[in-house]
Amino acid sequence: MKAVLDHVGIAVKDIGAALAFYRDVLGLEVEAPEEVASQHVRAHFVPVGGPNLELLEATSADSPIAKYVDKRGPGLHHITLRVDDIHGALAQLRARGVRLIDERPRPGAEGATIAFVHPAATHGVLLELKQAGEAASHQPLAISHDVRPSPLQPPASVRDASVRRFSLGDLELISLCDGFIGLDGGAMFGTVPKPLWEQQAPPDGRNRITLAMRPLIVRGARTMIIDAGLGDKENAKFEDIYGVQRERNLEQTLADAGLTVDDIDIVLASHLHFDHAGGFTVRDAAGRVRPRFPRAQYIVRRGEWEDATHPHERNRASYLPDNYVPLAEAGVLQLVDEDATIMPGVKVRRTGGHTMHHQMVLIESGGRTAAFVADMMPTTAHLPLAWIMGYDLYPMDTLAAKKAFVPDAIAHETLVFFEHDPAIAAGHIREEAGKRRVVPAVTG
Ligand SMILES: [Zn+2]
Ligand SMILES: [Zn+2]
Repeated sequence: MKAVLDHVGIAVKDIGAALAFYRDVLGLEVEAPEEVASQHVRAHFVPVGGPNLELLEATSADSPIAKYVDKRGPGLHHITLRVDDIHGALAQLRARGVRLIDERPRPGAEGATIAFVHPAATHGVLLELKQAGEAASHQPLAISHDVRPSPLQPPASVRDASVRRFSLGDLELISLCDGFIGLDGGAMFGTVPKPLWEQQAPPDGRNRITLAMRPLIVRGARTMIIDAGLGDKENAKFEDIYGVQRERNLEQTLADAGLTVDDIDIVLASHLHFDHAGGFTVRDAAGRVRPRFPRAQYIVRRGEWEDATHPHERNRASYLPDNYVPLAEAGVLQLVDEDATIMPGVKVRRTGGHTMHHQMVLIESGGRTAAFVADMMPTTAHLPLAWIMGYDLYPMDTLAAKKAFVPDAIAHETLVFFEHDPAIAAGHIREEAGKRRVVPAVTG
């Protein structure tokens, strides 16, 4: 595993005396303390030009820091290594029989996820593993139900490209990231005035806002990918117009999830716009376009296929035939006519609105539900009912679909995947005192 030293934790008995040394004698800067309520600890970070020092002060007698100081006196308490994938790191340690204090990661300071390894395994040093939280999780995220955006909403310039794993009953859901594109902010928010949407999604100098492309892997009886991002077939002019920012491609984000294109049995399309179906095909060395997932059946709704293969003036720019026509030629295309179960626990439901046959994916296992809503609600900012994209061909149908879906998602605590949200891959919609908001789900 790749790990870097993040900080060194020092248990202190008397914070005043400790500050008198670290701050006043050494002359170091000490940041405003942060309370970690679950641990009954107050943490004072001391930046020292690399890994920080962290002075830990107990806030109650049953704090682990109080117990530590009682038993061993103040002193070096733990060291923290930062890892990219804490789940993977714990799995690796478990596989080697390493004694852990935390079998599963839990929330730490600053929105991070942490887990402790037992000193018995580490030759006497309490070791904390930490996966840094994205800025979005520093504070509870709130998006109001009416048109007024909430001041708590983080700027959409916060980007998170990490792979996120969730378990849902017997299924594993893995949110991938195929990078980011910039689309016109006005088009993304339809009739919503710019003074409102620009607070949620700050535009660049060309009025474009940052959007992620997040395909979803569902692992169960078979391995499915829902949508596949933009792909790699477009030229520099296209990438400039659409502000394509991709540090890594789909193969790399699949690799982060421990998968390759050969693992995919089923490719399911929400619809065939280029930012969803672009990754369905690749151009090979000979310049031929072929299916990207060599073993997969590709499942597309028949009405969407008809529309994509017979575009009109209004939707033509969104449908690029190289993304889907080669699937039919290769004999890997399967058209479904209506709402159906695609594999155990996974079914499609037509929403219409964005395109006539746009569909979302409902996932159910072990009494829990998840939904991949695609372009019905592309980002968490699209939660308010009237925040509907200008791109939508049938906006009143989008409105009806949202009106049906959102109360249901609240009632069933559905884990909702937001395919285009730059910072939040998934979350739960909550309603309190008539206000709706999305509470981000980091993992689960
Ligand atoms: Zn679309
Ligand atoms: Zn889209």
